[in-house]
Formats: sequence, structure tokens, C-alpha cells
Amino acid sequence: IKEGKYMKHTLSQKFNRQVDQISVSLIRKFDEQVTNIDGIIKLTLGEPDFNTPEHVKQAGIQAIEENYSHYSGMSGLMDVRVAASEFFAKKYGLHYKPESEILVTIGATEAISASLLSILEAGDKVLMPAPIYPGYEPIITLANAKPIYIDTSKNDFVLTPEMIDQAMVEHGDEVKAIILNYPSNPTGVTYTREEVQKIAESLKKYDIFVISDEIYSELTYGGDHVSIAEFIPEQTILINGLSKSHAMTGWRLGFILSNEAFIKELMKVHQYLVTAASTVSQKAAVKALTQGIDDGLEMRAEYQIRRDYVYQKMNDLGFSIARPNGAFYIFGKIPKGFNQNSMEFCVDLAQKQALALIPGIAFGPEAEGYVRVSYAASMENLEKAMERLSNYMKAHPAQ
Ligand code: PLP
Repeated sequence: IKEGKYMKHTLSQKFNRQVDQISVSLIRKFDEQVTNIDGIIKLTLGEPDFNTPEHVKQAGIQAIEENYSHYSGMSGLMDVRVAASEFFAKKYGLHYKPESEILVTIGATEAISASLLSILEAGDKVLMPAPIYPGYEPIITLANAKPIYIDTSKNDFVLTPEMIDQAMVEHGDEVKAIILNYPSNPTGVTYTREEVQKIAESLKKYDIFVISDEIYSELTYGGDHVSIAEFIPEQTILINGLSKSHAMTGWRLGFILSNEAFIKELMKVHQYLVTAASTVSQKAAVKALTQGIDDGLEMRAEYQIRRDYVYQKMNDLGFSIARPNGAFYIFGKIPKGFNQNSMEFCVDLAQKQALALIPGIAFGPEAEGYVRVSYAASMENLEKAMERLSNYMKAHPAQ
């Protein structure tokens, strides 16, 4: 094929102007930039390093052999919704009806897109405690709506009712929704029952949707995960999935749980975005949610050992760390004396010590000066990584 033959387009048509506003994820960009460094250890991506549990894989294989190769109903197979209903009841005391209050989605990602695209109109504002996972803003931009960041950095990345009240005073009627994400990517911060309850009480005062992305709920250390939906189900669109709890990122299986009226509207967008989630993945999900209900516990125990290790090491190296009670991230403030910004720090660290951490700036300006470490990596790699980080810190001229 003659090179470049199909490379040029001749249309004068432009893409949706909103698409121009969307930039490539800094996380991916940074990851690609450092990936070819010889011997690099990457503590970058939010991806479990475990494999999907064997019995769940077998359920997927069996589904293929039994010809689960057709479309499922748009809200998902009834047996997955029943299994999900029981799973969330048992785990978090939530009571969603399988027939009308659960939607099976293509990962939390589609759940996020379907939710935001269903509710947002041009000019709407969406409150987002920051720093925050960069997966929401592009969809808000696409909907021609506006993200409003609530800076939590002054309170160790813990959102308070006062912060919500303050944002509502400033933006009032234009606010359509708030996005919560806890345990949080990137900070690892999660909330106690009392804290969730207080946040819920604050949100109850306002006529806004609460989109709560609780994809890391099974990775909560030293306490139970408490869903905001327990307190304000009438305004909550709850998002969860199996990517992190069952190491099933590639199966692309998630959920929206909400009241019947919301699900009816969400269905319209979900239906035309994707039709339905993969039928094979749904059959595997039934296994994960029933016989594999506690599959996550073993992984969680392992993550907790790694968390304690990385926390201690980074603490010793002078990083101050947000309370890392959930997910698989440590969010550390680069010690004083390093006069690089987070990107310069991470690029230099990668080049000099072959260790890749994510610069805080990837999660918004509120996270400048921080680095995110994903401890979804083997203990062996974490040990090597901490040694390299230590070498870097010691050799740095600022120290
Ligand atoms: N939400 C958060 C906060 C995440 O960190 C991620 C993945 O890293 C996702 C959603 C995407 O999850 P899924 O793989 O289920 O689409």
C-alpha cells in the first residue's frame, strides 16, 4: 500500500467543537513517554495485577460454549441483576430491585458516560471534589456542561459538608450534579459512616443529582465501605463494577443502581450508546457476584500489606501522605526542597532511576506537588521501586 494514501482527509467539515476541548489523558501520555526506558518499573496504572479468579474465568468459558453469544436484554441478563441486587444488599445494605433499579453497563466507564450524558444540558455545572479521576471531565465537556472543582487539598483531600455548602452558595441554581468518588482515585481517601452521613445530609438540602462512583468499594481498609446511597437513594445514581473488586478490568462489566424513574431515563442513553454489556462477561459476573462474593477479600489483604509497606517507606523518605484507607493508591506530597513540579519530578525520577509514578498534575491543579503511586504491583517490584525512590531522593541536589 502506498504510504499515506489514506492519511489526508479532504473534508472541510469539523468535528464537534467540544471534542477539540478534550485532551489526551496525561496519565496515558506520561505512561507512554516512560514505557521504553530500560528496566522501568511502572507504578502508574490503576489496574489490579491479579488475574481474574479461576472459577469466574471458567464461567466465562462455559458461557461461550453454551452459546451465550447473543445480545442480552438492554438492562442486562436477569440473573446478573438478581446477583448484583443480592451482592449490594449483603455487602452494603442497599436494596435495589433487579427488575427495575439495576442496569448492567460496560464497566464503570460506560456507567459514568451514560449517567452524565443523560442528565447534562449545555451550561449545567457539575461539582467535583478535586483532585479527581480524570475520566469524568471529558464527558462533561462533551455535554457542553462545566466542571466546578472543589479544592479539598487544604483538608488533606477530605470533602466536608461545608465545602459543598460553599460551592452551592457560589454556583446555586446552575449546579445539576455532584460527582463523588470514594475510595478515591487518586488519593486513596475514603469516608467513615459518620462522614458519609454528614455529606449526605448536606446534599439532601439541594436539588441536585449525586453520581457516586464507588468502583473501589471492596478495597476499603480498616473499616466498612458505606455507600451514600444508603442515606439519599432518591437522588443518587450509584456506579460500581467488577473491574477492581474481582480483577476483571478487561471483561468490562459495571452497574448503575438507582431508583426506577432514573433508571428509565438512563436506559434510553445506555441503549443507544452500547445496546448491552457483553453476554459472556455477564455470565462470568453472575459467578463473581454469587460464589465469588468474597473473592476480593484475599486481594484486599494483599493490597493492605503492600499499602502498609509503601506508606512506611514513603513516609520515611519525607513524603506526607493523604489517609490511604482505600483503593490501591498512595498520594504523597513531594518533600520540601525539591523545587520541581510534579511532572518534572516524575520525568526526572523515571530517567534517573527507571521508576514511573504519576505526577499529581494529571488529576488537576489541586494535586500539583504530589505524586500518585499505584501499589497494584508485586511486592518484589514495590521493594525495588522504593529502593529506587530512596536512591533518587538521596542523590537529589536539594537534599
Ligand atoms: N472510576 C474510577 C474512579 C476509576 O479509577 C476507574 C478506573 O481506573 C474507573 C472508574 C473505570 O472503571 P471500569 O474499568 O469499570 O470502566
